[in-house]
Amino acid sequence: MFFVKYEVRVNADFSMDIKFFLDGLAYEGSASLGYPGKHGIQGICREDLLCFEGAKVLFQPDFFYLDEDIHIDFIDIDIIKNGEHFKYSLKNADWFTLHDLRKRCFAIGEFDIYCPDDGLNVLFEKKYPAAREKMCDKIKYLYGYYKNLFGNIYSKGNGNIYAVYVFDRYNGKNIFAGAGMSSQGSTFFPDEQRDIELLSHRMFHAFFDSAFKNKYLLIPPYLWLYEGLAVYCETESVRELTGKNGWEALERRYRYALNKYGDKLKLDPMLERKYISCGYKMEFLHYTQAPLIIKENGGMEIIELLKKGFSPEDIARNLKTDIIFEEFDEALDEDLRYFDYILKTWGI
Ligand SMILES: [Zn+2]
Repeated sequence: MFFVKYEVRVNADFSMDIKFFLDGLAYEGSASLGYPGKHGIQGICREDLLCFEGAKVLFQPDFFYLDEDIHIDFIDIDIIKNGEHFKYSLKNADWFTLHDLRKRCFAIGEFDIYCPDDGLNVLFEKKYPAAREKMCDKIKYLYGYYKNLFGNIYSKGNGNIYAVYVFDRYNGKNIFAGAGMSSQGSTFFPDEQRDIELLSHRMFHAFFDSAFKNKYLLIPPYLWLYEGLAVYCETESVRELTGKNGWEALERRYRYALNKYGDKLKLDPMLERKYISCGYKMEFLHYTQAPLIIKENGGMEIIELLKKGFSPEDIARNLKTDIIFEEFDEALDEDLRYFDYILKTWGI
């Protein structure tokens, strides 16, 4: 028997005290939310809403990540806010359950629940101001896209729900509060292209992880393959949904970046491990170069190979990874200036 318990106490100043019990041994820590991150402020702790990505609050010791064969009989989570207890319990947790616990969205507040498809729940924060039906239609479309690709993974009948939490902005800022195999939570607005792209990207990861449970794709040297597939599916699904062809922008960014930064960005994906400590190389490889490699090599055919049981190593070895586009001699626009800004924030 292996037993884990988390006791999270939300204080009046909205900081949190966390007790972690592992087979009778107790550890204590604290957390506070709301720091700026890549896609918005990282969770929030307010009177009317508490939301966070699992790992921001639910501490896990290193061996939870490192032991592939880990098995935990019970995980109890008790979040105490204003004297009320919000309890979650998980039984027979394996490595992927713990992975989901680190990634998923926890949200406590008042929500209106919509069920646009079997296995899909959309939970709007009560004060979400934008058109809900429109948002639901888009979420349902993307859910259908991935259901078609990966199969009927979530089903209400089996108690296996994928939850999409939709928050309003907070003081004009977007919120990101986790994206795992069972849920994602963030600010979404139906006419914001980037919100829809991120929604699709996160849904890809949820379906893919649930379908394959392949942890070798979650770390280098094959993380680029996994992220490349995610951006590939994101770009294709959003093109179907909104009509916007994202490939043109990706190709332009690729040509522009190689022209401007030269050797700094001439990356061999098979050497991904070498780039781990370099933020801009990882950013460029994962979200610009890798999806173009996936596209050059047949796109969905790679997912079909994974379904047939080919390993990431077998697949990567046979991919043509050097993609060559013509030189860049176009005028800079808003998209490229933004792209430059991203690379600079990652240290180029
Ligand atoms: Zn991703």
